[in-house]
Amino acid sequence: MRIVAALGGNALLRRGEPLTAQNQRKNVRRAASALAALINEGHSLVVTHGNGPQVGLLALQSAATSDTEAFPLDVLGAESAGMIGYMIEQELANLVSAKSFATLLTLIKVDPRDPAFAHPTKPIGPVYDEAIAKRLAGERGWVIAPDGDRWRRVVPSPRPLEILEVSVISYLVERDVVVICTGGGGIPVIARDDGSMVGIEAVIDKDLASSLLARQLKADMLLMLTDVDAVYAGYGTSDQRALGKVTTTELMGHDFPAGSMGPKVSAAIEFTEATGKPSAIGRLEDALEIVKGLRGTRIDT
Ligand code: ADP
Ligand code: MG
Repeated sequence: MRIVAALGGNALLRRGEPLTAQNQRKNVRRAASALAALINEGHSLVVTHGNGPQVGLLALQSAATSDTEAFPLDVLGAESAGMIGYMIEQELANLVSAKSFATLLTLIKVDPRDPAFAHPTKPIGPVYDEAIAKRLAGERGWVIAPDGDRWRRVVPSPRPLEILEVSVISYLVERDVVVICTGGGGIPVIARDDGSMVGIEAVIDKDLASSLLARQLKADMLLMLTDVDAVYAGYGTSDQRALGKVTTTELMGHDFPAGSMGPKVSAAIEFTEATGKPSAIGRLEDALEIVKGLRGTRIDT
């Protein structure tokens, strides 16, 4: 099967862990071992990943050099995809020596009139106490929002419309190359009036971008790997219930939080409705069993 596998932020950094190169390497190694099991089973894999903590850190590092202007988010997004993609490629290649790998920056067209630009929702970087978050927001022109009982910077998250490198990605996938792309949800670009492209300050949701990629690549499955073993109905309540096999219509009857499970469920519904092919959501370590239908949540039409 051709599988687009999207790695959540926890694949790169566990919640609460400081973002050091060593921690990231350790977690990428765990992710690589789960992905290698899919490759060894004969699946053709395209790997995508998030970048929330990483792009936030790069933004802070960039802002810390006060004698120069901070780099814009599209450039920092590209940097984060290089940093993370490099580690994924290296750790995977160390486990699966018979394959070729390629890490590609991925430009994704968004609409400059997307309402998301007026309503930033995507949290990036570390969490702060309220007073510190408010001071930083004033100093740096950030928009901030509560994240649990702390605060975080939020940036616009427009809908991904078109993956510009899709023909190159297809070309490689058809030649049995394992491609790592759409890092951090891809780099958001808009078309100018003359048709030329320019980057824009935003972070695209990696689940929605992966869903678009899976549709454009005609993948057989969209697999979203995270730190929870399934999608739950009534999550966090005393009678929460893991959903095993569900239809897109059943999923539409539930509510999921916008900052976490919501985009995964939307991404699954969009892919499965458009293609008739399954989507699946579950824990990174269970990747192979999720694909076999033994664990996680499997979504069909
Ligand atoms: P990722 O970095 O993998 O995208 P997210 O934090 O965005 O991770 O989404 C996964 C999280 O969604 C889980 O850790 C879980 O706490 C949360 N979550 C919210 N609602 C649900 C639900 N209904 N079922 C399962 N998990 C949920
Ligand atoms: Mg997420």
